[in-house]
This record gives sequence, structure tokens and C-alpha cells, in this order.
Amino acid sequence: MIIVTRAGVSPDEIDHIRERVEALGLRTHISVGDRRTIIGCVGDEARLAEVPLLSITGVEAVHPVLKPYKLASREFSENETRIPFGRSEIGGDGFTVIAGPCSVEGLDMMRRTADRVGPAGAAGLRGGAFKPRTSPYSFRGLGEEGLKILARIRDETGLPVVTEVMDTRQAELVAGYADMLQIGARNMQNFALLTEVGRLHRPVLLKRGMSATIKDLLLAAEYVMSQGNMQVILCERGIRTFETATRNTFDLAAIPVLKRETHLPVFADPSHAGGVRDLVAPLSYAAAAAGADGLLVEVHPVPEEATSDGEQSLSLEEFDGLMTGLVPFLEAVGRVPGGAATAPPA
Ligand code: PEP
Ligand code: MN
Repeated sequence: MIIVTRAGVSPDEIDHIRERVEALGLRTHISVGDRRTIIGCVGDEARLAEVPLLSITGVEAVHPVLKPYKLASREFSENETRIPFGRSEIGGDGFTVIAGPCSVEGLDMMRRTADRVGPAGAAGLRGGAFKPRTSPYSFRGLGEEGLKILARIRDETGLPVVTEVMDTRQAELVAGYADMLQIGARNMQNFALLTEVGRLHRPVLLKRGMSATIKDLLLAAEYVMSQGNMQVILCERGIRTFETATRNTFDLAAIPVLKRETHLPVFADPSHAGGVRDLVAPLSYAAAAAGADGLLVEVHPVPEEATSDGEQSLSLEEFDGLMTGLVPFLEAVGRVPGGAATAPPA
């Protein structure tokens, strides 16, 4: 249920409305827009019938939210969600590129990557320290050592770092080092993990499960948000279909559908979607044209030596080319490359 307040409602009146709703055991979430403030109410909505909401001062209208995802739905928020990320922000008019290798393999290769992708326009650095691998015999990441490398490179370069958390038992450890927590496709419906990261104060990059519908993805975001963490970025990374010519099938339409359904930022991962380096640029351009707020791209200083996903990783030179190639697409959709700046570079 959402409560729409009258123009000019006072903070005391808003507090009073919230108190009345919360006294019934529901939780409230405030969205302050330019024109009006929305109070979203989640919980046992039947109990709201016990209060004549329309007679409370400051209340203009009360609407049910018909979508199963409430906090994530557009109706719940007047404005697009913007998420602070290093020196910039994700969402709004910006376009944020996060780049780096599939796996953190060592200090030197992370430093080489960061030193190149940052100046080329990446706003953040990616790299997995804990890797979900289809085979238990594949390289599964450096673990905490990888997290320490990420934090060190962040301190050296100022680039915020994104890394995957796979298990509730690692969540606090990973959050101690990372600026953003990635939930991988294989864990999109790990409800215990979603609940755990919902309790942490770190933005969450939530990847679409390979057989998850758009509704499933939004409900997974709702799990995180229902714990109080509203900083969720959704990421389309390709889904499994009968097609075998690409690693996954990039669901381009998911981008405008998500933008219609939710106020959360929407990213695309062209690397896992296509599975080969040649597809990364065209899928990136398509994602930008379709309205994505940013990209997650795999880049490796020597792709042929990568311990994971080398065939879909761009070299450093290819990443430069991608960033240049994106410019006309971003201009066409009125996006500011590099994310909306919140502070001047240090
Ligand atoms: C990754 O980003 O390296 C990764 C494992 O992605 P996904 O969970 O989308 O497969
Ligand atoms: Mn990968």
C-alpha cells in the first residue's frame, strides 16, 4: 500500500502518519519527490483497514500496490534510485562502467587493470575473490587474500571495488573489504544470502539467475530491500535458452521492462551474456541504447592467461576501444559517461 501525502505536508505530519502505520506492525518507507512524498507500507495490509487513513492530516490518497514486489516497484518511489559509488553515483543521468577480471589472480594484474580502466573511464573495479565454478576442480578464487588485494588497489587508485559474495558465512568478511557486494546468477534465489546482504550497509549488485524471470529478479531484490537495504542494482547477464551460439541469451528487452517496473538502477553484463570477446562491444552498445544505467565488463591484462572467463575478457586496449565506441550511443540517449559526478576527482 502507498500513502500519497498532500503538497506541503510537514515533517511532523509525516512522522505521525508513519507512527500510526507502524503501530499496526507494518514497516514504512519514505520516498521524497519533487512534488510529493510517498509513504510505502509493507506488511499485513489488511490491518491498515483498522485506521481511517484518509482522515489523518496530510494524507491525500491511499493506493494498493498490485505488483508482488513492493519496495522495488516504481509506485513506491517518486524518483530513480541513485547509489553513491566512489566519486560518482549510479543511476540518474549517469552511465557507470565497472570493469576488471573475472577473478582476482594477484596484485600485479589487478594493479595493471585498474591503472588502465580507471583513466579509460571505468568508475569501479570488479574481480571475484570467491568464484562460483561449475566444476569443483576449477580455480575457485584467492578468498580473503583476493579481498585484500582489491582493498589495496582501491586505496591506491580511488576506484571502488565490487566482488561476489557466495555464502552467508562470508558476507560480513566480504563487506569488510568491498564497496559493493555482487550476488551471482547462481545465487539469485539464495534467500538466506539475500536476507543477509539486506542487513549489511553495502550496495548490492544483483545478477539475474540464468533461468529467472524478470519478476523473479525483482522479487529477489525485494528480499534485500525488505531487510532495509535499498541500494540494489539489477544486472541482466543473459539467460539460458535453446540457443547454443552464445554462452547465454542476452535478454535485451529485460532492460526497458525493468526500467518501467522499478526505480532501481539496471546494469548489463555483456561478457557473461555473449561469452566471447567479439560480442562484448555490440551488446554493450545495445544495452546503452536500451536504457541501461551501466555495464559490468570483464577485462584482463592478458586474457589468454586468465584463470577464468578469458575468452570473454577484453584486453586493456579493447576496453579503451569499448569506452570510445560507447560515446555516441550514450549521447544519443542523453547519458553522461562515467556516472553522475557527486564530487570533484581527488
Ligand atoms: C562473474 O561476474 O564473474 C560471474 C560469475 O557472473 P554470473 O554470476 O553472472 O555468472
Ligand atoms: Mn566471469
